Amino acid sequence: MAEEPSRLELDKNIELDNICARPPATVPQPTEPAAPAIHLASVYRCSSPDQANRLLSGELPGYVYSRDGHPNAEQLSEKCRELHRAERATICSSGMAALALAAVSHLDRSSHVVVGDQLYGRSLQLFADELPRFGVEVGVVDTCDLHATTTALRSNTRLVVTETITNPLLRVSDIAALAAAAHSCGALLLVDNTLATPFVCRPLALGADLVVESLTKLMSGHSDVLLGLLCGNASSWQRCPQAQSTWGWSPGPFDCWLALRGLSTLALRAERAAANALVAARYLHEHAKVARVEFPGLPDHPDHRLAGRQFDGRFGNMITFTLRGGLTAAERFIAAARAIPFCPSLGDLSTTLSHPASTSHRSLSEESRQKLGIHDTTIRLSIGIESSDAVVAGLEQGLAAV
Ligand SMILES: *Cc1c(COP(=O)(O)O)cnc(C)c1O
Repeated sequence: MAEEPSRLELDKNIELDNICARPPATVPQPTEPAAPAIHLASVYRCSSPDQANRLLSGELPGYVYSRDGHPNAEQLSEKCRELHRAERATICSSGMAALALAAVSHLDRSSHVVVGDQLYGRSLQLFADELPRFGVEVGVVDTCDLHATTTALRSNTRLVVTETITNPLLRVSDIAALAAAAHSCGALLLVDNTLATPFVCRPLALGADLVVESLTKLMSGHSDVLLGLLCGNASSWQRCPQAQSTWGWSPGPFDCWLALRGLSTLALRAERAAANALVAARYLHEHAKVARVEFPGLPDHPDHRLAGRQFDGRFGNMITFTLRGGLTAAERFIAAARAIPFCPSLGDLSTTLSHPASTSHRSLSEESRQKLGIHDTTIRLSIGIESSDAVVAGLEQGLAAV
């Protein structure tokens, strides 16, 4: 038979357990850390039921449960709010979560939504496949065509959804005109500003009501976090905080911390990448092996004048080009351009490429791709912050093999 533990041993265990389980002592510090702290806590201690009640109702500022908010998310959302000169902003667990939050906050089973036919693939799936299962009606149109967009509006249209700059054709939306059209039937304009970032465009200033960005891309800029931003004005914010916490689209503290760090160099990165993009676009435009170049900064781009006016002379860091020849030409370029990794995302520090026909647009039929202007030889570049000579050298290496 096992011996009963003695009284002394029990006390020792209780003490050990207590020391292990209790929160560590706060160490008094005369100095402030120069870098923001990471607050991993999922829950905060309340001093009284009254305080808890007032914190949870929003009457007192502060945190109780991290799904409802935490310091790292707030530091990041505050910066993004300022960048967009928005009244409200929230950070979501991904760009798609931010888009889903905008949708569930503003749509129900009596709503109709008009979305751009060139939206990011998952965004189009959200609006055209997922939301109709909940009774939302959807019209898909070319939002670069104002007449087509206006024609698609109905009395129950609640949202018009477009992207500032589309992927991979880099078409530009006329945000002021779309906002006026949406408002004329009582709808809100939701703009996905991921490819532009506030460096190129602030859609709220042009009349948009809600802005979504995938912070995963250029905003964070280092391909190491997945996060999204939703911002807008107080009048279109009513349901957002409750919907975000209820659907569970809240971000993790460490991701927010990383994104805040990335964001601190956004202006430098975006400026350098945009300057490089202009050099690279001109280089490709003159190259004999290149059939077409899409870049809003080139005079032959269909939206060059709109982009010039709307973006104050900034055109972003994305370029799409189509090689002469067939799929082998693209395969050769991708294999030979060793300095430009094939990464189907965008906005990293270094120049990356993607092949839309086999990645972002692989679910479209060959015919729909051709109609959009996406061919087997179409390559999309996300230009990085190397020297412009290095970017051109990387392209030269690929083109030499075609
Ligand atoms: C990547 C992307 C998204 C989705 O963002 P995630 O952070 O990957 O969820 C939405 N829109 C555009 C334009 C994107 O490029």
